Amino acid sequence: MADVVIIGGGVGGLVAAKRLRRALGTRHRLTVIDRAAEHLFQPSLLWVADGSRRPAGLSRPLTRLNRRGTSFHLGNVDAVDPVARRVHVGSAAIPYDFLLLAPGAELRPDLLPGLEQGGHNLYTTAGATAIDAELAHLKGGRVVVLVASMPFKCPAAPYEAAMLIEARLRARGVRSQFDVAVYTPEPLPMPVAGPALGAAVREMLAMQHVDYFPGQTAASVDPAARTVTFASGTVAPYDLLVYIPPHSVPSFAVDAGLAPANGWVTVDPATFATPTERVWAVGDVTGVKLANGKFLPKAGVFARAEAEVVAANIGSLLTGETPTATFDGRGACFIETGDGRAGYATGEFYSVPDPNVRPRPVARRWHWVKVLIEQSWFALWL
Ligand SMILES: Cc1cc2nc3c(=O)[nH]c(=O)nc-3n(C[C@H](O)[C@H](O)[C@H](O)COP(=O)(O)OP(=O)(O)OC[C@H]3O[C@@H](n4cnc5c(N)ncnc54)[C@H](O)[C@@H]3O)c2cc1C
Repeated sequence: MADVVIIGGGVGGLVAAKRLRRALGTRHRLTVIDRAAEHLFQPSLLWVADGSRRPAGLSRPLTRLNRRGTSFHLGNVDAVDPVARRVHVGSAAIPYDFLLLAPGAELRPDLLPGLEQGGHNLYTTAGATAIDAELAHLKGGRVVVLVASMPFKCPAAPYEAAMLIEARLRARGVRSQFDVAVYTPEPLPMPVAGPALGAAVREMLAMQHVDYFPGQTAASVDPAARTVTFASGTVAPYDLLVYIPPHSVPSFAVDAGLAPANGWVTVDPATFATPTERVWAVGDVTGVKLANGKFLPKAGVFARAEAEVVAANIGSLLTGETPTATFDGRGACFIETGDGRAGYATGEFYSVPDPNVRPRPVARRWHWVKVLIEQSWFALWL
């Protein structure tokens, strides 16, 4: 009997757990460790912020995993010992024969002075709820959507947030009382996807009169003065600050020698095996360098596909077969624009010399496809 352990019950962890449970049958033990008791469907946070969802419906308890023979262990992973093959969670040392890291990226608003006190974190339930409350009552002013640093998960999110906020204010009949602006260190929207997609997103922002300030790296936020100061010297005033916080690799991965301090877990881009024996990593915790020198975006669509590959290969190893599954770099992305409409793009990110990304025009059907994914998520995976 082998012990297969998954760190993280997010997108990558849940997909791998479901596939592995089926492949391993009752012959092997499967454990999922998460410090959160519930899995949150993160894409819907944008709809919490714009008032079209309530947070209560967006999470499910991870103890549901136990129903299908997977053990769910609630707790924070403090350390991984790749020599003794143990995962340390508080006082527990959980042994593994095969380990999958799927802890995502750490959100670190504390890394930018004044950020936590001065604004609301779009990437947490509490932050998205607070944004919704402010948008319901604010009478006028300047809404700033700030990308604090790069990389960040879901490259479309700041643009979606700005357009959804714009549409919400229009629906309230108060749009003329507001300016809406996006500040980001990126040179153009979603730069990894190339200039055509960047131009298409800029066009969408312009259509909704959202001001766009690329190439702006935030240095500090002054909560009392309600300003963001950038490395360029620009000072941006705001009345409502909606932010995407700095992201970093979890410290246990660095301590275990699985990732550099200022980087991400290195993996084989086809199999998501790490250089450490019997350890794989998927999703936002990984850094996959593409042919053009940029990195594969951090997105659920990739975490899901990567998890399928790793689960198939661990399953093969346990049944004595040769692992053959590989990830092909394909992905897709929705860009919500408000008013029940969205853009959509598909891409082959492993194409040489650049990813091959095809944007589709904004349409109602893309919004409804995204809603369908949301509505079927828990039935499929938890
Ligand atoms: C607002 C928003 C909108 C998004 N929209 C989209 C979209 O439209 N399409 C798309 O593809 N992606 C989207 N994403 C991104 C997507 O949600 C992530 O890329 C995806 O969840 C990454 O999966 P993961 O398994 O790597 O990590 P996660 O899903 O983040 O899961 C990580 C899990 O690990 C746990 N964990 C972390 N550290 C520890 C530890 N030390 N000990 C124990 N447990 C730990 C966490 O609690 C968490 O449950 C969006 C994200 C946000 C925030």
